[in-house]
Amino acid sequence: MFEHVNPGLSFVIPAYNEEGAIVSTVERLRGILASLDIPSEIIVVNDGSKDNTGERVRSCAGIRAVSHPINTGYGSAIKTGILCARYSWIGIVDADGTYDIELIPELVERMKKGFDMVVAARRNVLELDGPFKRFFRKSLIRFLNLIIGGRIEDPNSGLRIFHRDVAMSFFPFLCNTFSFTTSITIFALGEGYFVNYVPMNYSKREGKSKVRHFRDSLRMMQLILQGITFFNPVKLSIMLILALLGLGAVPAFILALLGMPTVATYHLAISIASVLLFALGVLGDIIRITSTSRINKKSSLVAEANITEEDCAV
Ligand code: UDP
Ligand code: MG
Repeated sequence: MFEHVNPGLSFVIPAYNEEGAIVSTVERLRGILASLDIPSEIIVVNDGSKDNTGERVRSCAGIRAVSHPINTGYGSAIKTGILCARYSWIGIVDADGTYDIELIPELVERMKKGFDMVVAARRNVLELDGPFKRFFRKSLIRFLNLIIGGRIEDPNSGLRIFHRDVAMSFFPFLCNTFSFTTSITIFALGEGYFVNYVPMNYSKREGKSKVRHFRDSLRMMQLILQGITFFNPVKLSIMLILALLGLGAVPAFILALLGMPTVATYHLAISIASVLLFALGVLGDIIRITSTSRINKKSSLVAEANITEEDCAV
């Protein structure tokens, strides 16, 4: 099923304005990768940083440095790294010193046992979150487990190793922004790949997080909707029927009972039209993503035009 052309591990570090921690991250990662018994490389994707990240990256020996001319997002930077990778396993880690890089040999051992993706699950992440983020994270995990069937421990951990071919098999579904990790989790589990978790302690970040909660939460909801439509369209239909009943039919019935039949009719008509248009939008989205010619064109554009490889020596 997998190509395995070049067995080994390509580690991708997306970096946007990370001048504070990028060099130490690269150095720690280089030490760990050198201790492994498989070939490896480090690819740093400078995602249009405005600070000195680019210069700091160029000062690091023995890595492949790739840069985007503009800032395009976390997932987009990782996708560039995946397209440039030489090896059949992809590792990802943030450039901010939050993830326990020492765990990588354990992740590799589990990959050797036959898992398709091994994730470092942050067991203390809820303690570090504020109240809003904690509520959102808990709800997200519960909701995702409901859709996928109760197997996700940490949907958006940024330290993980996966087969390059797993990511390539649903590349256009993978989100270009912060939901990249959630999207690869949903699609790997939905497609029946073997996913495993290794518990990890998460550290406080160096520098500021680039996550914008409102915008990124909306993107996450869109992504979840895509996952439901793709893997479980019947569940989507049931959700729409329940929404139509709860928000359309029942209130319309009550309005009619209260002697306002015209308002009730308007309410019902608008509710039905909204649900149908919503369903149409969701279907259109799936058609957009699955149109293969567009996918191939985008991938080659990324590979040929937007990337300047500054140092390919490993
Ligand atoms: N990042 C990126 N492009 C962006 C935003 C972030 O390459 O537009 C990088 C960032 O430098 C970091 C990683 O993606 O290495 C994850 O971002 P961040 O740590 O801000 O997210 P958090 O861990 O707080 O969710
Ligand atoms: Mg981070």
